[in-house]
Parts: sequence; C-alpha cells; structure tokens
Amino acid sequence: MRYLSTRGDATPRQFCDILLEGLAPDGGLYLPAHYPQISAARLAALRQTYAREGYAALAFEILSLYIDDIPADDLRAICAKTYTAEVFGSPAIVPVRPLEGVLHIEALSNGPTLAFKDMAMQLLGHLFEYELARRGEQLNILGATSGDTGSAAEYAMRGKKGVRVFMTSPHGRMSPFQQAQMFSLQDENIHNIAIEGVFDDCQDIVKAVSNDLEFKRRYKIGTVNSINWARLLAQVVYYFAGYFQATSSEGEKVSFTVPSGNFGNICAGHVARMMGLPIAKLVVATNENDVLDEFFRTGIYRVRGSSDTHETSSPSMDISKASNFERFVFDLLGHDAAAGAATRALFGDALARQGFFDLSADPRFQDAASRYGFASGKSTHADRLATIQDCWQRLGQMIDTHTADGVQVARAHLGTEPMVVLETALPIKFAATIEEALGRAPERPPQFNGIEDLPKRVQVMPADAQQVKDYIARHCA
Ligand SMILES: *Cc1c(COP(=O)(O)O)cnc(C)c1O
Repeated sequence: MRYLSTRGDATPRQFCDILLEGLAPDGGLYLPAHYPQISAARLAALRQTYAREGYAALAFEILSLYIDDIPADDLRAICAKTYTAEVFGSPAIVPVRPLEGVLHIEALSNGPTLAFKDMAMQLLGHLFEYELARRGEQLNILGATSGDTGSAAEYAMRGKKGVRVFMTSPHGRMSPFQQAQMFSLQDENIHNIAIEGVFDDCQDIVKAVSNDLEFKRRYKIGTVNSINWARLLAQVVYYFAGYFQATSSEGEKVSFTVPSGNFGNICAGHVARMMGLPIAKLVVATNENDVLDEFFRTGIYRVRGSSDTHETSSPSMDISKASNFERFVFDLLGHDAAAGAATRALFGDALARQGFFDLSADPRFQDAASRYGFASGKSTHADRLATIQDCWQRLGQMIDTHTADGVQVARAHLGTEPMVVLETALPIKFAATIEEALGRAPERPPQFNGIEDLPKRVQVMPADAQQVKDYIARHCA
C-alpha cells in the first residue's frame, strides 16, 4: 500500500515511512492511495475469524490490507500482544450490549486508562517499539494533554524500549482521577510535566519546541497526536467487530453514532464504510463545541477561537477545530490529484485567510449524506445529565458524559437497523458530572482502588518552553 497526502504530495511512502511522522511535508494528512474492498464473502470469513480466533486475529486481517512493509508473522505477533483479555478486560475486547430497542452500546473503554484512545495507542506502543528497534533509533514523544490522550500515550509507551514520553499538562486542572492515573506511573521512560498555566499554554510550548528544528532533530522529538494514520487504522477494526456483534449475517446493515471531537474515531468508521462494511448511517455527535455538527447541517466549516471554545462536562470533545476532518474532505472531493489541490485551497488557504470555508453550494457536499451516510447532532450539558439519569434510572446502565452525548444524538437518528453508540470512556473518569446527574458516585474498577494515594512522579514548571527544553535535554543523556 502506498500513502499520499491530502494536500497533493504523492511521493511514494509505505506504512512504516509515515508511522513515526505527524503531518506530511506539505501540511496535509496521510491517507492510503485507495481503500481495499471487502466482498460479502470476505466479510463472512472475517466474521468467522473474529468468532473463532478473536479480536487480535481480526485486527491482523484488517491491518495487513494496509501494511505491507512489516512481515506478516511479525504483524500477527504485534496484534496478539496488543489485544489481550488481560489488557482490555474481556475476550471480545469491544463487547456490544443492548441498551433499548435497536440501540446498542459498544464498549471501547475497558483498556488501561478507561477511554477508547487505548484501542489505538496500545497498538502504537508495540508498533513504535518494533520499528525503532528495526531501525536502531530512539524517539522522544512530546505532547500536551488535558486528560485522555496523555494518559493513553503513557500507558502505551511505559517500559517500551527506544521511546521516552514527555507529557505536559495544565497544573492542577485535570480531574484527581486523571492526575492519579498519569502521575502514579513510576516507569523511567515516562516524564510528567505539570505546567503552571492552562492547556493552551501546554500546546504553545509543544509548538515552540517542535518549531526549533535543530532541537527537534538533535533530540529526536516526535508526537502521537490523533492525526497519526496508524491510530486511525487501528480504530477501523472495532467497527468490523461491532458490526459482527450487532448482526448475524452479511445482508444486514448497522448504523453507528460516535461522540466526536477531532473526527478521528468517526473517520475510522468512514474508512470501514469505504471498504464496504454495510454501514447505513454514521452519526457525528458533538457537545456544545459543534464545529462538526454545523458543517454537516450547513456545509460551512468554521473553526473557533479559544474564546468561542466552551469548557464542557464532556471535555474530551472540547475542540475548536477537528484535526482529522481534512481526511474526509479529501475523500468528498474525489480522493485524487485534483482533490489534493482543492483540499489545499480549503485548508491551506481559505481557513488560514478567513477562518472558514463554505461547501454548501457544492453538489458533492449535497450528496454527502446519501453517498457517505453522514448525519449529525449536538448535545448540551442539560441533555447529558438527562440522558445519564434516564439510562441509569430506567435502563439500569451507567454511562459516561461523552457516551451520553452519543446516546442523546443517536435517539434522533434511529431506523430499523441496529444503532451502535460507541462508548468512549467509563463514568469513573468524569465522576463529578455523574454525581451531579445521579447523586451518587460512579463505580470504580477494582484495579483503580486507592490510586489517588500512590506516590506521584511529576515535575511542576512555569509556562516556559526553554525550561521544558532544558528538562528534555537533561533526561535524554
Ligand atoms: C478523544 C475522545 C473523544 C473524541 O474522539 P475524536 O477521535 O477526537 O473524535 C470522545 N470521547 C472521549 C472520552 C475521548 O477521549
């Protein structure tokens, strides 16, 4: 498989060439040159693979369609190491359970940090270790987090050879549970840096350090953000696993509703659908930060400033722009050289110049719902509380705030086919809002009992890029 950039750069690249990279050199995102097609017969065979051999075997089958520069036996071993019942809590890895009527929930958050980012990040940890060893190289991952991404990255990279993690977070601003999850890690290669500032300060520091090209090269600085193709690819697998659990034969269709922020999760659903997985609708659920809902309703994509970005009770969806959205637009415009030029004009020019672009008059946008299955909706704090209450009091299921946004929006898009809402985190991660809704604390998985009392490994620092650089330099000797 060859990979190309959404902004037109078509230098031939293979999977491992882009594995350790962020953006393409022209500022675009990487996508495969084409989407391999899964026939009905192949889909039936994959159903058997999942049923008989499990999720890791299914993951290998999907990944090997996109990865031809890792020997098959090695890739199979990486999948087997990653997707175990010990790490993900059950042999199904992503069990689907009924909620009510056609509504189902697919549990993606039983990994080490109790959020769906583990699904991809755990694989990335093994892929990075493998590829760095093969090249005899080292990588220092620098990131900024307000919660889920940073902890998923740390739990994926802990103890991995050739990798160090330097994760900045706003000092005192994450939930006590999230702080305990990250700061209790005692692994030598994991460095927590608490910045005296807000999340934007952390992001600015990461940008400043990455823009110092000499420093970046010398200290082999890399990232693991959500635009990484390998992360997206790993997520494609659970759309297949969800489909198999919600149906009994290949003639049936399924819809998915996805609590969305950076459009990474649902973009993986789009890829699965492009491969031929029988998905009826892909419903984008947003919170008050409704950049994506606005686009799918109106054709206008308008990024927000930080004063327009709301702090909500589903904080992992609090985004001002959706960094993976460019991938879908490239497909919408044709997934070819002309689409590359058009995508560059929209994301490289129009957005930079005026902060929005408008596809409302473009027939390809007007066809987006029928051709690609997309629909969307938005949920607010009040909706979230009401949905959490309803699911608990009437249906006996406790769901987290992000999943509640999904259930709320899914209910407006029900048909006759199963509607699978992706559960992106467990309630314990957002305990304050659960207590507000239910007047009781969420259950805590036993392995997390008492983590707030464990010794913490964290360095507090002012919001100063130079001090972060000095810290990295001291710890890379
Ligand atoms: C990251 C995250 C999301 C948003 O996923 P995207 O891939 O950015 O759309 C939703 N819910 C939770 C709990 C998350 O951690």
